[in-house]
Amino acid sequence: MTNTQHHPVTVLGLGAMGRALAQTLVKAGVPTTVWNRTPGRDAEVVAAGAVSAATAGQAVRGGDLVIAVLLDHASVHQTLDPIAAELSGKQLLNLTSTAPEQSRELAEWAAVHGIDFLDGGIMAVPSMIGADGSSILYSGSETVFQAHRPALESLGSAEFFGTDPGLAALWDFALLTSMYTMFGGFFQAAALVGTAGVPAAEFAPRAAAWVSAMASSLPRYARIIDSGDYTGEVFQDLVFTKSALDALRQAASDAGITAEPLSGIADLVDRQVAAGHGAAAFERSIEALRGH
Ligand code: NAP
Repeated sequence: MTNTQHHPVTVLGLGAMGRALAQTLVKAGVPTTVWNRTPGRDAEVVAAGAVSAATAGQAVRGGDLVIAVLLDHASVHQTLDPIAAELSGKQLLNLTSTAPEQSRELAEWAAVHGIDFLDGGIMAVPSMIGADGSSILYSGSETVFQAHRPALESLGSAEFFGTDPGLAALWDFALLTSMYTMFGGFFQAAALVGTAGVPAAEFAPRAAAWVSAMASSLPRYARIIDSGDYTGEVFQDLVFTKSALDALRQAASDAGITAEPLSGIADLVDRQVAAGHGAAAFERSIEALRGH
């Protein structure tokens, strides 16, 4: 049943994420038109109530808000450039994962063509869309965000980060950076215990509990980083941390595995110690990333 509070929405791209978004919009009563480059991927969403369009241009004519959820920045331009005239006067939401500068470039492109632009970063996997825990970060046009807020909230919690169109992607990519480095650490750890015949499945619950416990200290790390004072409150200094990381690298080497995931942070610590900051707090490693 169509909910009259929702404006019609078009979804361009029916990969795993596009299908999840379209299904959820339809379920929320949003009139939804869909298009995908490769035909035949719309069967389920059409069965649920979406309207299928044969071309991207035709799909755009069906929605006030056009959501692009494609592979990458290049595919967004490949899809949207030829239909810029149809998009003119419409509202565009880019939910494709694009780097902050790419989102800003897309906003400039949209402005040139008279398109009101909102960017978004999806903090969820397709199965989470529309369920508790799904979160989407937005930045760019607040007009677009507010106009479609009920529809956006059907997809997950909707938070507006500001009018800089690159901000949502910046937060998104920062969170993904935390996630991937955590996974890298887990892979190295699982390889390490694996050398003693311990299955990754046996190790995982203990690793999850440990990483969760350590994550609770992030606000303290953040407070020291933001203060810029790395000598006032020193929980672990850089010399201590270096010896711990050297021992971890030794353990990996002894076990016959490589230690690339750990090497990232170990190299930062080494550089800080070499620069004479050994007595400063571990948190000073962030300055090595900034080239200090
Ligand atoms: P996917 O399953 O690989 O689907 C990619 C989509 O992009 C398909 O619809 C594909 O169309 C289309 N596409 C690729 N190149 C194209 C081109 N040159 N022109 C037109 N269409 C093109 O990916 P997905 O999981 O749906 O992800 C879509 C976006 O959401 C990505 O940016 C991804 O980073 C982001 N995202 C995904 C997840 C996730 O867990 N899946 C989570 C957060 C964010 P065809 O069917 O024709 O190939």
